[in-house]
Amino acid sequence: MTTLLNEPIEKLKTSVKGHVVLPDDPNYDEVREIWNAMIDRKPAVIVQCAQADDVARAIAFAREHKLEISVRGGGHSVAGTAVCDNGVMIDLSPMKNGRIKQHNDQTPRHSDFNKDLVKLKNRK
Ligand SMILES: Cc1cc2nc3c(=O)[nH]c(=O)nc-3n(C[C@H](O)[C@H](O)[C@H](O)COP(=O)(O)OP(=O)(O)OC[C@H]3O[C@@H](n4cnc5c(N)ncnc54)[C@H](O)[C@@H]3O)c2cc1C
Repeated sequence: MTTLLNEPIEKLKTSVKGHVVLPDDPNYDEVREIWNAMIDRKPAVIVQCAQADDVARAIAFAREHKLEISVRGGGHSVAGTAVCDNGVMIDLSPMKNGRIKQHNDQTPRHSDFNKDLVKLKNRK
């Protein structure tokens, strides 16, 4: 299937800051692997996102080519829903930091993502 998508995949590769990994790439098996080793699904395309724009581009690509999407965070879900067969796996694991806008301070800032999520959760 990826043969049919050669040109769009090349475009996707040049438009993302992260990496696009395909079944014939040497690191493909390593990248599609998740915690539950019983899950052996093979996405057609894996987008290792480096920034939010990469996620948007990966979604647009999947929509345009009517491909299923799966989202991988840490890949620890036992059900293995982070990885799909023949679709686009959006791999968020390279994105370790977030940027959160404070409610009363509109200046975006880099943050310790987990710490700020806890703060947001505790806000009444
Ligand atoms: C050894 C082990 C110990 C665990 N211990 C605990 C524990 O103590 N407490 C507890 O609550 N849980 C525990 N879990 C469960 C684990 O926290 C959950 O499975 C959690 O969802 C894993 O997060 P992940 O990012 O690795 O998920 P993934 O496997 O990457 O994804 C899980 C699901 O969430 C979706 N998803 C991930 N990120 C996004 C996103 N940004 N946007 C939209 N969808 C997204 C994926 O598509 C998938 O469907 C444990 C799991 C393991 C393997």
